[in-house]
Amino acid sequence: MGVPQDSSWCWRKILADREVAKRFIFHIIGNGLNTRFWKDNWHPLGVLTDRFPTALRYDSSFHAEALVSAGITQDKWEIPPHISASLGDICDYLHTIQIDPSCEDQVVWSASSKGDYTLKETYNALRPSKPNISWTKLVWFKEKIPRHSFITWMALHRVLRTRFLLFVWGITTDPSCVMCGQADEDIEHIFFECPFAEFVWTHLLLDLGYNRSILNMEQEVQWCMLNFTGDHSVSYIKKLTFNAFFYHMWAERNRRVFRSESRTPSQVLQGIRSDVRLRASGFEKSLSDTDYNRQFMARWGLDACFSVPQLINCYWKKPFPGFVMINTDGSLNGDVAGFGAIIRDEEGNVLAAATGSSPPKTIILHELQGLETGLKLAYMHKFRNVQIGTDSMAVLSYVQRSINPPWVAITVLRNIRRMIQSFESFHICHIYRETNEAADHLASLYPTTGFLEVIPSSFAEDLKKIIFDDKNGKAYPRRVY
Ligand SMILES: [Zn+2]
Repeated sequence: MGVPQDSSWCWRKILADREVAKRFIFHIIGNGLNTRFWKDNWHPLGVLTDRFPTALRYDSSFHAEALVSAGITQDKWEIPPHISASLGDICDYLHTIQIDPSCEDQVVWSASSKGDYTLKETYNALRPSKPNISWTKLVWFKEKIPRHSFITWMALHRVLRTRFLLFVWGITTDPSCVMCGQADEDIEHIFFECPFAEFVWTHLLLDLGYNRSILNMEQEVQWCMLNFTGDHSVSYIKKLTFNAFFYHMWAERNRRVFRSESRTPSQVLQGIRSDVRLRASGFEKSLSDTDYNRQFMARWGLDACFSVPQLINCYWKKPFPGFVMINTDGSLNGDVAGFGAIIRDEEGNVLAAATGSSPPKTIILHELQGLETGLKLAYMHKFRNVQIGTDSMAVLSYVQRSINPPWVAITVLRNIRRMIQSFESFHICHIYRETNEAADHLASLYPTTGFLEVIPSSFAEDLKKIIFDDKNGKAYPRRVY
C-alpha cells in the first residue's frame, strides 16, 4: 500500500517505518493457510519474492498472492517440478521446515526472544552493533557505588577533562600533572603512570591479594577484567576497589586543581579502603569456606558467612520397570551446535543412540533438539513406555508447559509435544549433569547432518567406558553448598 498524499507528517513517518518493521515479522508455518508463499517472511532465506521475483507471475497455483499451503499436499511439501527446477536452493530448505496441519501459522516478532513486540529488544536489534565494550561488567555491577562507577566509566571512555586535554583545546597553558609535576596530565598518567597512583594501586592490589608491579592502563584494565570476575562478594569487593580507585584519584586531582588542598597517597588509600569497607558491610557475604576467602575477608576486616561445600555421590538414573531411559543433551560451542540422545534399558544396556548438529542458535534450542532426537529414536525403535532424563531445567519447564519457550524453539517443541502423544506412557525427570555424560558425549560429536543413528558397536572407546561405568553404578561426585 502506498502512502496517501494527504496524510499528516506524523502518519507518514510511521508508515515509512513499515519497511523496518517487516524485517522482524516472521511466520512459523503450521498449515500454511495464513502465510503468503512469495511475500511473507517464513523461509530461512527470507522473503522469497525478493530473491526470485519473475518466474512466478504466470503460474496459476503459484501466483503472486499464493499461500504457502499451495506447496503442501497431504501434509508434505510438494512443489510442482516446473517451479521447483527454477527455485533451486529455495526448495532444498523446505524439508527443514516442519508442516503441522493441526496448527495455524503463527506470526512472531523475531527481534524478541518470546516472539512478542518489546521496545527494548527491537531497539537493540535495530541499532548498529556497537563495539564490544568488555569492561562494562567491571564498572556496572550489582553492588556498585554509582558515583564511583560513573567516574570510572568516564575515565575508560577517556572523556575526563584532564589538564592535557584542556591544554590541547587551548583552555589552559599548563598540562602538567598536579600530583607529581613530572609529566603531562593525561588519563594514562593520572591513573597508572603517576608515582602517586602507582603507590595507591600497588597497595590496593596487595589488599586484594595480588603482589605485582603495575602495568599500563590498558593492560591493567584487561588484567582486572580477567581476574575480577564472578557474582559473589569477593568479586564485588575487587570491583568496588577498582572503581573507588578511579573516583578517589580523580577527586584528589580536583582537590588540588580547584581547592589548592592536597592529601598524601596514604590518606587517599585510606579513603578508598574506608569507602569499600563501608559499602561491603552493607551487603550479604556468603562464601564457600576456603583459605583464600577467609584470608581475603580478614584482610578487609569484614565478616562473612562461610559455608562448607559437600560432595554428594550421584548415579546414572535407571528407568522405571518396563520403561526405557532416554538421556538427551544439547551443546553449543562457538560456531558449532549439536545434540544427542541415548536409550538404555533397566540394566544400562544401550538400545539405540543418535547424534545431530544444527546451525548454532541458543543452548535451549539445542537441548530441545536433543529431546526431539531421543523421541524420534524411541519412536523408530517402537518403544512404547519412555522416560526422559534431561539435565536442563528449562527443557523440563517447557515440556511441562509451565513457561513459554523462545520463539526459535516453537517448531521443535510443537514436534516434541506431538511425538509425546504417540507413546503409551511418557515421563520426564531432571537428572544431574554429572550423570548425563553419555548424552553429552553424543551431543558434542557435531556430525554434518541433522540426525545420525549411531550403532553401539561403533562407539568410541571413551563413550563405551561411560556406558560401562553407568551400568556398573559408578558414583559421580557432585559439589553442593
Ligand atoms: Zn603525576
